[in-house]
Amino acid sequence: MGPLVEEHLPGRRVAMIADEAVLALYRGGRFGKVSWEGETLTFPTGERSKTRDTWARLTDALLQREFGRDSGIIALGGGVAGDLAGFVAATYMRGLPYIQVPTTLLAMLDASVGGKTGVDTPEGKNLIGAFHPPVAVVADPGALATLAEREFRGGLAEAVKHGLIADREYFRWIEREADALLRRDAAALEQLVRRSVEIKAEVVSADERETGRRAILNAGHTVAHAIERATGYEVPHGEAVGLGLVAECELAVRLGLAAPALRERVEALLGRLGLPVRLPRPIPPDALLAAMASDKKNRGSRLRFSLPTALGVTSEGRWTVEAREEDVREAVGALS
Ligand code: NAD
Repeated sequence: MGPLVEEHLPGRRVAMIADEAVLALYRGGRFGKVSWEGETLTFPTGERSKTRDTWARLTDALLQREFGRDSGIIALGGGVAGDLAGFVAATYMRGLPYIQVPTTLLAMLDASVGGKTGVDTPEGKNLIGAFHPPVAVVADPGALATLAEREFRGGLAEAVKHGLIADREYFRWIEREADALLRRDAAALEQLVRRSVEIKAEVVSADERETGRRAILNAGHTVAHAIERATGYEVPHGEAVGLGLVAECELAVRLGLAAPALRERVEALLGRLGLPVRLPRPIPPDALLAAMASDKKNRGSRLRFSLPTALGVTSEGRWTVEAREEDVREAVGALS
């Protein structure tokens, strides 16, 4: 890390922020090229830590240690560490530069790209946050060796989303390479991370503040966030995204925007990648609808979704579409 820090955060006093599990792995020398001798701050592992409370504890710790405006942050870990440490960086002393060092597949191929930072509140996910792009992202697929199978597969759901919304050939490539990916074949993984990052970066760079096309990256996410909240974050983000894609494809079919074969194909690929395509336990559709209603994209308006219409295509020109509650209820019902 030393040379990278010197290059991207020159002359700055730097604090690394990581969750407890990641910090233990890193201290045990499990992250290959990632090594850091400087100061560290940590927080309890998991989505339940992505809160204003944790943000307050981390920023208080920086204040107590007298970090100034000339500081920098390293966000080491999965998407939770990235979002949380990124939000610390966005807000501390009106903004510090930071480096993202993603260590989960989901964070490497999605969360570390695009500059969205933030925390969850009881009302919903990511409702408090800021756009604050990192000065650098350093992803070493070698760090994935220690990642639990469930977390690894969750990352594949975001890659399926990238293919579904923007690149039919990439979706087909994932279908062909499913076995190699599940074996964590190094070449396949590198190609996966590279193509997903290219797709996300291309979409984000054209619409950084999400006034238009960037919304397609939210495919599956309105339902996913509702599932995460309704299960108290028992269903991890990646799995929830997979389930969200199934439900939102079903919704697109119901609205006459997509053919039933699209949903079948998405469901088949997710299943092949070992991702759940049905809820782990029944959740009343109305509980999911209530959670969606407080999602930020739906504040003060009817339910809106970014829906895939064909492989590699999202409702062209209309980045989000409105749906009636009855249709959404039926669509999420397909997950039971
Ligand atoms: P996470 O950060 O909680 O990491 C998942 C688990 O993996 C944790 O237990 C962590 O300790 C462990 N872990 C991390 N790296 C490891 C490694 N190399 N070896 C072993 N264990 C390791 O969750 P996540 O799935 O990475 O990220 C989900 C979060 O990302 C959600 O909060 C979601 O909202 C957010 N997200 C943000 C964006 C964005 O654009 N900002 C995009 C997608 C998702």
